[in-house]
Amino acid sequence: MAILPHQKCSLRSLEYVPTWHRPCQSMHVICSVSTSTQTKPRSSSPNQLIIEPRLVASPPLFNDPTLQSTWAHRGWVATGCTTVLVSLAKSMVAAAFSHVWIEPMLAGYVGYILADLGSGVYHWGIDNYGDASTPIFGSQIDAFQGHHKWPWTITRRQFANNLHALAKAITFTVLPLDIFCNDASINGFVSVCAGCIMFSQQFHAWAHGTKSKLPPLVVALQDAGVLVSRSQHAAHHRPPYNNNYCIVSGVWNEFLDKQKVFEVLEMVLFFKLGVRPRSWSEPNSEWTEEAETPSQVAAR
Ligand SMILES: [Zn+2]
Ligand SMILES: [Zn+2]
Repeated sequence: MAILPHQKCSLRSLEYVPTWHRPCQSMHVICSVSTSTQTKPRSSSPNQLIIEPRLVASPPLFNDPTLQSTWAHRGWVATGCTTVLVSLAKSMVAAAFSHVWIEPMLAGYVGYILADLGSGVYHWGIDNYGDASTPIFGSQIDAFQGHHKWPWTITRRQFANNLHALAKAITFTVLPLDIFCNDASINGFVSVCAGCIMFSQQFHAWAHGTKSKLPPLVVALQDAGVLVSRSQHAAHHRPPYNNNYCIVSGVWNEFLDKQKVFEVLEMVLFFKLGVRPRSWSEPNSEWTEEAETPSQVAAR
């Protein structure tokens, strides 16, 4: 088959090479043919097959170090849990002193409901804006891009590895309240909301789990809508890749998607700041899921 003038073929797009997993040393072949007369060819041969090495990201291997928990990860999860538990204990002590339990319990329930909304807004933001070089959020953005390409890897990520980034943010947010706030309702709200946000990545991992391999209690909570369901989150990983962002209980997903809340926010940001969300682009190889190979399935 003849190669047409100006035809370029690339085995994979070259624009994005995620850094959340260190790329392996694989070769990327680019075949390029040009007969342009406007620029002088770099070599004496105008129709030249260019083969150049390229670093290409690949999914983490089974027992990949990037999926393992370190002592630093465990330390941050421990401090995050401690700050949340201190806030919960202060709420219970204040409620016991005042003999008013209903308000802190209602505040905790509101915290659980709003944590789902918060997880959706945050997930939508990092799915659609910025890249690996974005300050503060760069590693999370990169990790979520990798997650869209290889969703199954979240089930192999160890517990503290999966939670440590959110646990660090929760530690710094909740610690001042632990020190300075003694209000039963505020602590009731903060402890439940912060706890749900910190564990949202675990709920997310369970949403990717196989029903037969999940603990029966987790399956029961998913089926009851207490935790985000596997079917609801599976829709997030299917075209058009712009819905079901909430990953605590998923209770907000239907409302947010039906009312097109994120689509309106995307329009506002586009017209105010000129930034386009990733979800407006045609799904490409960086966004869509790569199928698991038989050897990867066997390694589960
Ligand atoms: Zn996502
Ligand atoms: Zn997911």
